Amino acid sequence: MTWRDLGAGEVRKEHVGERHTLAGWTARRRDHGGLIFIDLRDASGISQLVINPERAPDAAASAHEVRNEFVLQAEGEVVARAPEAVNPNLPTGEVELQVDRLEIISRSTPLPFQLDEENVDETLRLRYRWLDFRTDRMQRNLRLSHTVVASIRRSMEEQGFIDIWTPSMTKGTPEGARDFVVPVRLQPGRFFALAQSPQVFKQLCMIGGFDRYYQIATCWRDEDLRADRQFEFRQLDLELAFPTREDVLDVLEQVVVASFTALGREAPRRPFPRFSYADVMARYGTDKPDLRFGMEIQDATEVTRSSEFGVFANAPVVRYLVVPAAFSRAELARLEEIAKEWGAKGLAYLVSDEEGQIRSPISKFLSEKELAAFGAEPASTVLFAADEEATVERVLGGLRTHLGRELKLADEAAQSLLWVLDFPLFKIDEDSGRWTFMHHPFTAALPGSEGLLESDPGAALSQHYDLVWNGWELGSGSIRIHDSLLQASVFRTMGMSEEESRAKFGYLLDALAMGAPPHGGFAMGIERFVALLAGEPNIREIIPFPKVSSGSDPLTGAPTEVPAEQLAELGIAVVKEKD
Ligand code: ASP
Repeated sequence: MTWRDLGAGEVRKEHVGERHTLAGWTARRRDHGGLIFIDLRDASGISQLVINPERAPDAAASAHEVRNEFVLQAEGEVVARAPEAVNPNLPTGEVELQVDRLEIISRSTPLPFQLDEENVDETLRLRYRWLDFRTDRMQRNLRLSHTVVASIRRSMEEQGFIDIWTPSMTKGTPEGARDFVVPVRLQPGRFFALAQSPQVFKQLCMIGGFDRYYQIATCWRDEDLRADRQFEFRQLDLELAFPTREDVLDVLEQVVVASFTALGREAPRRPFPRFSYADVMARYGTDKPDLRFGMEIQDATEVTRSSEFGVFANAPVVRYLVVPAAFSRAELARLEEIAKEWGAKGLAYLVSDEEGQIRSPISKFLSEKELAAFGAEPASTVLFAADEEATVERVLGGLRTHLGRELKLADEAAQSLLWVLDFPLFKIDEDSGRWTFMHHPFTAALPGSEGLLESDPGAALSQHYDLVWNGWELGSGSIRIHDSLLQASVFRTMGMSEEESRAKFGYLLDALAMGAPPHGGFAMGIERFVALLAGEPNIREIIPFPKVSSGSDPLTGAPTEVPAEQLAELGIAVVKEKD
């Protein structure tokens, strides 16, 4: 006995007159008095079953019991539909199965939501994820995800990379997030950290003589969950020995193009444009700019140096955006709120109405020269930020991104894939006030910056690069330090004593001291990449079993408490938070 001999979505005109057996789920049942119609769905698509009580009384009796999502097996003859019954929207729409035998294989309780219902609460979808999987959206997304991952693997193999497994349970790896820790029964009081990335292990592979490593690696980071962030996620993680920076970028560009091609899409043109960090920060106020629209930040520091408007004259940096919309007062008040969230003290503006009349509380302080410099075309608004450079970048960058979305400025048909290069090596850690790494502490300085590591860390640039797509950071990488002494000097700049750096990374320092080749690599977030390819706004839509923003899994109810004996065995006491 076979369950089925044809996919429900595969039945075509050429099968007319043949007998076939189909099996799948009940998408819909319509009882037309005499005839009963059932849309039967399996992974290949949908077929219409017709049950005629006169021809098949037993099948009709079963059909009366059928409800949505019952699993059925139907045997019968494929017949052509009458011309007026043809459904041009279905590949199987010219035919139907005239059922002789209908078996209910499995029943379903009433459904918590219907599969064709719109805007179903996400927690409910995740709680009943197996039902959600049956929707067109999830079927499409997970299949697309598979196609992309398969194409990435193919491309990596074609480019000569080998897949090397690295441990999940390890020692803290500094990728800028908190570690998830795993207690160890055999050594109570000691913990593994779940790998935030395979970073150090892949470097050890290079030192060990493997010159092209890759892995679709699961990484764990204890961070707040967001639309583009989960506790656990996958990366295309790779590393090359003896590479130039261009070699690494080239590998990634080939992977991206292979994925587009595997999906039958027009691939982005290579090479992807390259920008320096300083350039994108000045022009777009972010290190992940969306270049599907212009609206660049412009500088007004010089022209406002002797402005009668004191806020401008006294600010270290004055920059502005010209937005193609004449905002109302209410809209400007809302934008000011947003600017304040990004750190602005206020939001100065000039509105140029349809006739080119300027409306602004500050225009009376501005000279002709200043007004002319801002170039406010009719029906536009000039938004200013006057502050320290970092604040100005953050505020105008935040406003540009927000307004780009709000005013739908991006050309949706365009793709903006780009590289950001030459990041600073260090930044100040806001909590400790100490220098910390911008990418991770294994990133090499840009040639010319090595001498600044300890003398002027803030001015040192690095060989760190990011890949950005439509305003999302797809991934990061760098050329690494392959000199043990240089690595130790970076740890020192970050305020680590020799003891601390040996305790944390002694094994890496030892490895770097035993013949380390120049090496570098990259990691690309698979879920972000797939979500963008799928046109989904949220990575949860392409992750089979994600967590919600509270950090819980609505499906299993995890995380849960563990029995007291298990905690005792691990040597752990839980301190209950007082209400
Ligand atoms: N380990 C880095 C990360 O996970 C990527 C890299 O530098 O290769 O972001």
